[in-house]
Amino acid sequence: MAQATNNCPDVTIVGGGPAGMMAGVLLARAGVPVTVLEKHADFLRDFRGDTVHPSTLQLFHQLGWLEELLELPHSQVDEIGLKIAGRDCKIASFRKLPVAAPFIAMMPQWDLLDFLARKGRECAGFTLRMSTQATGVDTDAQGRIAGVRLASGEVLPSRLVIAADGRRSVLRDAAELPLEVLGAPMDVFWFRLSKPAALGGETFGTMQAGKFLIFIDRRDYFQCAYILRKGDAAAVRERGLDAFREILCGLAPELREVIHELADWDQVKLLDVALDRLTCWHKPGLLAIGDAAHAMSPIGGVGINVAVQDAVAAANILVDALLAGADPDPLLGKVQQSRWRAVTRMQAFQRFAQDRVVEPLLNRTEPIKKPFWPVRLANRFPVLRRIPGRVIGLGLDRVEIEAEAILHPRGRNNPA
Ligand SMILES: Cc1cc2nc3c(=O)[nH]c(=O)nc-3n(C[C@H](O)[C@H](O)[C@H](O)COP(=O)(O)OP(=O)(O)OC[C@H]3O[C@@H](n4cnc5c(N)ncnc54)[C@H](O)[C@@H]3O)c2cc1C
Repeated sequence: MAQATNNCPDVTIVGGGPAGMMAGVLLARAGVPVTVLEKHADFLRDFRGDTVHPSTLQLFHQLGWLEELLELPHSQVDEIGLKIAGRDCKIASFRKLPVAAPFIAMMPQWDLLDFLARKGRECAGFTLRMSTQATGVDTDAQGRIAGVRLASGEVLPSRLVIAADGRRSVLRDAAELPLEVLGAPMDVFWFRLSKPAALGGETFGTMQAGKFLIFIDRRDYFQCAYILRKGDAAAVRERGLDAFREILCGLAPELREVIHELADWDQVKLLDVALDRLTCWHKPGLLAIGDAAHAMSPIGGVGINVAVQDAVAAANILVDALLAGADPDPLLGKVQQSRWRAVTRMQAFQRFAQDRVVEPLLNRTEPIKKPFWPVRLANRFPVLRRIPGRVIGLGLDRVEIEAEAILHPRGRNNPA
């Protein structure tokens, strides 16, 4: 195993989301000097994924951090249910997954990112620069990407740039990486409501013809996602807040006791859903990971976990070369290769669900008389609930931390 030295090449990671923070922490833990740039002053971004899946929890377990992570306020979901046509149906179960934590930890994303930032700061070579916005890349005389340009005018020279700046990545545009847009038929209205006493438990969402509402349990309140047809937001707003509140109460009558809290459209944020991917994630000197390489649909709530798994794959593949001061470029394609199947299969699953379930549901005007047959089967036979539980909970082609330098760091980065 190569040992950390002061001659290690610097890695600059643009974006302090789940992908960027995880990649930064893992590389720094192994002894690679890493700088993570985050354009916001803090991680307090609401209306993002809050689901830490069993596959991600297993990675924390591997690092010996699981118990500490689970000390943070969170709720645990080991079975997902939907209310369809007034009937509670269980559709996915994580209970039998062969992992240390067979449940989804519902935890605000900022808590997860703060946790990773704390872990990063325990490592000698980790630098996190908040309020630092990248605007583009710097190239050397051979055309290799050799650094990051900042909004301040500063240029940060780097041996490797990791673009983890999310689904509107400026770095991937600057590097002219080819984007394939797969499209999504829906958008999401996000808002929060106090948790009515009568609602909760395992029910995660409720659907009727043309309407779909999801609850993310933040313990004392619900982060609510109302799924609507792409482009319909203006029409829903035009019909007025009273009409929108009625739709919500029609979907979940328990909301009547709290619905007055929704007093202004300013409380309702529109997020346009994207599904896309780069067909090539890298260029000499630069690698894209997470949403910057492939924006995931919210279906299955897998985005954070796929992003984290990209980070782990990248760290596994690159760490030894970076520690040895070797050229990382020949390895960048391997990172994409190792993740391509998992990402494209998950996107295919999301597309299938979008096209075959969400879009017909949103276009439907006939009342739903009973849950669809696969849902009825899953509800009836617990063993069948394990299949969606496995796909959602563990993802496809699960990644583990394999690099010795990360698993058993030397010197200051080894807390033992
Ligand atoms: C409506 C919606 C609901 C979702 N629900 C879920 C869910 O329930 N569960 C789930 O797992 N996933 C969910 N996702 C997806 C999930 O949020 C993303 O897939 C995941 O956050 C991707 O992580 P990332 O690190 O690649 O990108 P991001 O989380 O987008 O992080 C990118 C970071 O880069 C920073 N940044 C951007 N540009 C720059 C720049 N130029 N310079 C410096 N910093 C920059 C941003 O501020 C951000 O912090 C949802 C997404 C959406 C849109």
